[in-house]
Amino acid sequence: MIKKIGVLTSGGDAPGMNAAIRAVVRSGIARGIEVYGIYDGYKGLVEGHIVKMERSSVSDIMIRGGTILGTARLPEFKDPKVVLEGKKMLESFGIEAVVCIGGDGTYRGALALTNVGINCIGLPGTIDNDISSTDQTIGFDTALNTVIEAIDKLRDTSASHHRCSVIEVMGNHCGDIALYSGISSGAEIIISPEKGYDEAEILERLNELDVKRNKRHAIVVISEKMTDAELLAKKISENTGFSGRATVLGHIQRGGSPSAYDRVLATRMGDKAVEILVNGEGGKCVGIRGNEIVYYDIEEALNMTKKSRKSLYELQERLI
Ligand code: ATP
Repeated sequence: MIKKIGVLTSGGDAPGMNAAIRAVVRSGIARGIEVYGIYDGYKGLVEGHIVKMERSSVSDIMIRGGTILGTARLPEFKDPKVVLEGKKMLESFGIEAVVCIGGDGTYRGALALTNVGINCIGLPGTIDNDISSTDQTIGFDTALNTVIEAIDKLRDTSASHHRCSVIEVMGNHCGDIALYSGISSGAEIIISPEKGYDEAEILERLNELDVKRNKRHAIVVISEKMTDAELLAKKISENTGFSGRATVLGHIQRGGSPSAYDRVLATRMGDKAVEILVNGEGGKCVGIRGNEIVYYDIEEALNMTKKSRKSLYELQERLI
């Protein structure tokens, strides 16, 4: 039976990571396991920034955004020699297995460690919802709520000025934040990697909404990295009856107290990760399908493709 496990957060921070850490620590302790907090992701793992956690170490963290363990990127962890250094460091603490909370890159690190004999479990912690092996990632729901709160406010002001608000949201090559926030805020246009970017079509659509539909304002939600939001707003001002204004929401989307949904999701996933380790398995990652907590081989998960969002895009367009 496993006696000592570690928990780390890696990649970008996401609201709900703390709830996942709390679940791992308390679920471990409840099963008679010692749990160690590994600070700053794989960087802290290699450097030995590792501290034993008590039940009380995770008191009051559930409601806090970010991650109490900190997160860092260590590109050198792709080097097998550095992975072996990490393994040695863990062995010096007697840590036999690790729960790694983060995105795809974090999963790859977890797999690399598992392959050298340290069983690891990946939990999907990222606001982008860009992990195919789960319907939702920890942090996505909270980020969406932050985004729609901002869009609702921009709607008030843009409606008063016959404006078109162009709102850039995060997503890291995944359009889910744009799609779901667009649907839940009634955006007129959603621009995302899945949808593509056709400037002429966007301007034509806005003109149609202005002239034929007599709309007082329009909301355009655009995923980061699609185009320059400021430039698009300028083109909207020059080519349509709307005055275009761009707002880049940026890192505000990563912060804040996690939603109830993210807290429950993180709690269920954290507990599952410990259960899998207790059963002697490693190289797995946890997800949610429907309302069931599931897990897959990390290798299989990294090769999965995301479910098509076509019908949701069609729905959004039907309702405008
Ligand atoms: P986000 O989705 O927020 O970007 P992520 O987990 O995908 O999260 P990355 O920066 O890609 O973020 O990865 C986090 C860390 O995982 C890296 O800094 C590195 O330490 C480790 N990592 C990434 N790729 C690999 C790999 N191929 N092998 C071993 N470790 C890796």
